[in-house]
Formats: sequence, structure tokens, C-alpha cells
Amino acid sequence: ELAQIGVTGLAVMGRNLARNLARHGHVVAVHNRTENRTKELIEGYGHEGAFLPAQTAAEFVGSIARPRKIIVMVTAGDPTDRVIDELTPLLSPGDMIIDGGNANFAETIRREDSLREKGLHFVGAGISGGEEGALHGPSIMPGGSAEAYAEIGPILEGIAARVDGRPCCTHVGPDGAGHFVKTVHNGIEYADMQLIAEAYDLLRKATNLVPDDIAEVFAGWNEGRLGSYLVEITAEVLGQVDAETGRPFVDVVLDRAEQKGTGRWTVQAALDLGTPVPGIAEAVFARTLSGESELRAAARELPGPPPGAREASRALVDDIEKALYASKIVVYAQGFHQIATASAEFGWKVDLGAMARIWRGGCIIRARFLDRIWSAYNADPNLPTLLTDEYFREALADAQKAWRRVVSTATWLGIPVPGLSSALAYYDGLRSPRLPAALIQGQRDYFGAHGYRRVDRAGTYHTAWSADRTESPS
Ligand code: NDP
Repeated sequence: ELAQIGVTGLAVMGRNLARNLARHGHVVAVHNRTENRTKELIEGYGHEGAFLPAQTAAEFVGSIARPRKIIVMVTAGDPTDRVIDELTPLLSPGDMIIDGGNANFAETIRREDSLREKGLHFVGAGISGGEEGALHGPSIMPGGSAEAYAEIGPILEGIAARVDGRPCCTHVGPDGAGHFVKTVHNGIEYADMQLIAEAYDLLRKATNLVPDDIAEVFAGWNEGRLGSYLVEITAEVLGQVDAETGRPFVDVVLDRAEQKGTGRWTVQAALDLGTPVPGIAEAVFARTLSGESELRAAARELPGPPPGAREASRALVDDIEKALYASKIVVYAQGFHQIATASAEFGWKVDLGAMARIWRGGCIIRARFLDRIWSAYNADPNLPTLLTDEYFREALADAQKAWRRVVSTATWLGIPVPGLSSALAYYDGLRSPRLPAALIQGQRDYFGAHGYRRVDRAGTYHTAWSADRTESPS
């Protein structure tokens, strides 16, 4: 018997995806560069379903029914190209490679193009949810052609997470669309985590609450509109006590956040597209700042405000909930705007509402409020920004006083809140009828004769700043 699908790359993600496929009744060919991992999979989990282990790439390809579907789950970057190069000569026209790694979407576009020329399908599929998701149902964001999706879609939808009976998987769009959306998903994840961390920091430093109390605050928030996987695990982490010292776990962990790079890619892509995603950028930079040990040591003695009185007030806790919710709306709005911009630029026609829908389960940013984003785009697929959707506009209106109080309290106390404050600045920036960008245009024209446009008539103009200061069309 031949396998219906193959998985190569059997580290945590590949192994669990292969098990998930087998548990859903598929015969799964499995392969890994180092054979030991294949053996471990068969020995540990072979009883869960039908696996066809292969030692070599040729044996692996030969054990899969045509048109072949092969999921590649290896370290993103060079290794992905190595594996594609090894598989390609063994494949036949119509066969398909699905890259489930965290690839850069630009590389996915390149790979899709080069395999298409060889008559092969290439599907760059973003997969979120970590190892648990891979096993029990991830959120899957496949790109590639509609023709390829017709073949692989049903299988991926079958193993994806489900919410209200619907799979957290849909065809995102051609070539790199899936990996792009996965990248922005991760960027939003960075921003969401940063906002939660700032909310915790404020509760810790501006109130009398200790981590155990704050764990309860987050657990309470998780029951409401902030209900999400990230808020849920925040409560778990804050409630954890270090076995060795008896201290809160969060106090024994070195305060230097690491990163693998998808947040940075989101910001790099946003810079290339010219799309503002300050909330995601602040989150990436907050992680890098935390890791600047020497810089932080050198700056430790810089003066801050005198210690403020700690408030034990319930009112501040409620204010922080509102500031967190409002800021969360803003960073998601930024991420969705970035997807919309890229979609227009690359001709992907991404259904934004569907992205919110498939993020409701399986992935790290799964959250109750994604239902709201889905409805917002259902009501108006061309919504220019989520902020103007009726529900979100009201939520922001309701939160804004508290949000402003929280940002100013943090500022007075010297507690850094780059996420919360930049979200507020984005909100105020977008709603301002006039921005000081007019002055910047004047400065640019002064030193570089770059020209400017006027509010009252068409055309581009230049003022002769160093001569008689008369204006002429430029
Ligand atoms: P790793 O990223 O640690 O990758 C290890 C796997 O890649 C092993 O199977 C390894 O084979 C294989 N590999 C590395 N280099 C090569 C090469 N040159 N040729 C052939 N195979 C190679 O594994 P993960 O399971 O953590 O992740 C797999 C992919 O999924 C990555 O792209 C990752 O970014 C992505 N991902 C990971 C998530 C997670 O939570 N871990 C979540 C979502 C996506 P060998 O055993 O021989 O060394």
C-alpha cells in the first residue's frame, strides 16, 4: 500500500503533524535526514496509525501515491532549499511540496516560481500552535495555487483545529500569501505579548498586588472580552512558584526576551511596504532593549521620578484592562492593515475576515475577540481600518479615558509602556484632522527642494527659501 501523504523533517513539529495525519486515518510516509528520529517516531507512536518509514529520500518518495503530497517540516532557510533540491529530481509533474516551516514569504515566492517551472506545486503553509497544535490541531495558513489547494486543502482542513465546527484552515492566496500571513500572525503575537507584559509590569509596580494576585487578575480577565490563550497562560506563568527558592517564577527568570525572527520579518516587510505597524515594531525593539545587558548596566543610575505612591485601587486595575483591550484592538488593526496592503501589492486577494476566523483556534493568538474582527470584515470587506468598525469604535471610545490615564500614570512613575503608549499615539495619529507632517514637508522643501503639495489646489510646489521666498510650481 502507498501512503497518501509524506512528512519529512521529524523534529517536534514534523513528528506531531505526522501523528495528527495518521490519527485522522491517513497512511503517512515518514522520513528524516537523521534516521534515528524516524525510528523514534515508529517506536514511540507507530501504534497510533499507519506509518511508512523510509530511510532515504528515494525510498520516501517511492512510498507515496501520485500525485504526491510531501510536507517539509525542517529548519527554515537553507535546510528547506536543501530538502527541496533533494526531492525535486525524484518527483513527477503534478506532485506537490508543502513547506510548513516558518519561511520568509519572499523565499516562498521564489520557491513556488521555480517549482512551477518544473511542473510541481509548491504550497508555503504557515502553521501555528507549536507542538501541541501540530498534534491536536493547528491553525494552518496555506498559500500556493488554487489548483494545489483543491488537492491538499481537504487533508489540511481535516487535521486543523476546529471552532464552531469550522476548520482553522483556508486557502490564503497565491504563492507567498500563506507564509506572509503567518509572519504577520507572529508579529501580532509579539505585540500582544508585549502589551500583556506591560499590563503586568504596571500592576506589579503601581499597585500593591503580588504575582499571585496578578495571576488572579489575568485569570479574571480571561473570562471576559480579553479571553485568549495568551492571557490564560499569563495567569499560569504568574501563578507559578519556583520550587528551588519558593519565589515567584517570574522573579527568578532573567529579564531578557529572546526571539527567532518572525517579528523582525513582519517589521521589515512593513518598512518595505510603507505600512505603519508601530505596535509590532515596539514589541520587537522592547525585546532587543531587554537583551542589551551592557547598555542597561550603563544606564542603571540614570535619574527617574521619585518612587510614587502605590495604589491598591480596583480602579487602576480596571483602567489597565481597558488600556490593554484598546491597545490590543490597535495592534491587530495594524497587522490586518499590513496584510491588506501586501495583498493589494502582490495581488493575493486575501479575505481578511477569513484570517481572523482561522486564528480563532489552534494558534498562539487565538482569542475571543477574533470573532469581532471576523464580523467586522463580514459587515464590510473593504473596511479601511478595524478602528472604524462600529463595535471597535465604541470599545475605543469607552476605553480612551482609562487608556490615557494609564499611559500618563506609567509615564509619571517611570514605568516603560512602549506598546500601550504607541498604540495610543497611533490612534490619535489616525484620528487627527491635521498632523505636523505639513511642517516636515516644509523642512524637506527648505533643505532639499523636495517640493510639497497644497491643501487648496493641485500640483507640487517649491518655495525659494534662500532667495525671495516666492512659491513656484515644481
Ligand atoms: P527544527 O526547526 O529544530 O528543525 C529540525 C528538523 O530539521 C530536523 O528534522 C532536522 O533533521 C531537519 N533539518 C535541519 N537541517 C536540515 C538539512 N540541511 N537537511 C535536512 N533536514 C534538516 O524543528 P521544529 O520541529 O521545531 O520546526 C520545524 C519547522 O517548523 C521550522 O521551520 C519551524 O520554524 C517551524 N515551526 C515551529 C514551531 C514550533 O513551535 N517549534 C511552530 C510553528 C512552526 P535532523 O534530525 O537530521 O537534524
